[in-house]
Amino acid sequence: STSELYRDFDKSKVYMVDLESGLHYLLRVELATHKTLEGVELKTFKDFVTVVAKLFPGRQSVVKLLETLLEWLVSLPLEKIPYEAILDLANNKMRISGLHLTERVQWLGCQGSSVALRGYPCSLWTLFHVLTVQAASRPDALANTALEDDPLAVLQTMRQYIGMFFGCRECGKHFEEMAQESMSQVKSLDEAVLWLWRKHNQVNARLAGSMSEDPMFPKTQWPTPDLCPTCHEEQDGLHVWNEDMVLAFLKKHYSAANISPKYTS
Ligand code: FAD
Repeated sequence: STSELYRDFDKSKVYMVDLESGLHYLLRVELATHKTLEGVELKTFKDFVTVVAKLFPGRQSVVKLLETLLEWLVSLPLEKIPYEAILDLANNKMRISGLHLTERVQWLGCQGSSVALRGYPCSLWTLFHVLTVQAASRPDALANTALEDDPLAVLQTMRQYIGMFFGCRECGKHFEEMAQESMSQVKSLDEAVLWLWRKHNQVNARLAGSMSEDPMFPKTQWPTPDLCPTCHEEQDGLHVWNEDMVLAFLKKHYSAANISPKYTS
């Protein structure tokens, strides 16, 4: 139903139901517009599945689905993969036990005051913040994959995915411009966490007051002082970020321990 009631949520939490709804949307809706994957698209999708299968701090049933998808993609010698085959796997047509991804879109931390606002793009930002934080806290997680030992692995994967598959083409163009400008300066997993935070705030600043802003969720420079007072400082009367505090806050906010299972069923 599209007219569900607004549900109260806590802005200091991340919600698993948003992340799982986002993965459902990505695999079953967004990807469906590409009938076959080959070449750079296939490579991008493989990297995306590698990153989420290895780093997503999700429920066992979802992680198992992602791992199965990864094993299948890696073992398959095909140069072209029909989307239908990916869909069959996402829907667990093989009936492997203990493997499942919701087919329901339900937003909680990402719910909007109308169905056209927030939702999927919000969940995608959230997912990639979670993934950069996981990569920084588990530096060996991508060992023995094509993305091993690269502090840029998650950001590059996001960049490729957004550029090639994200339904908002305009967004992809903007993100690519930001990436070209400064992504190569990122030298560590911690810097990757901060880079994504900085760029997200740049997008927030650009979009403040625009059509895509939900009046109930005004674009702000995040985290706001109520969420992280020590992140904010003043120097010569001007606002400055304390980036050490911001990094510590991001690592806590987007950690597995701060992901609430509320409304996952
Ligand atoms: P979002 O910006 O989606 O943020 C989701 C949540 O992340 C927030 O509620 C907050 O809890 C947290 N958050 C906010 N800021 C930060 C931060 N700096 N660091 C860490 N966490 C934060 N829309 C356009 O109209 N034009 C564009 O060019 C455009 N480019 C985009 C590029 C990308 C890569 C993505 C994923 C989305 C883009 N969008 C763009 C969509 C837009 O950024 C928002 O996602 C959408 O408007 C929904 O906004 P929101 O209020 O849910 O908050």
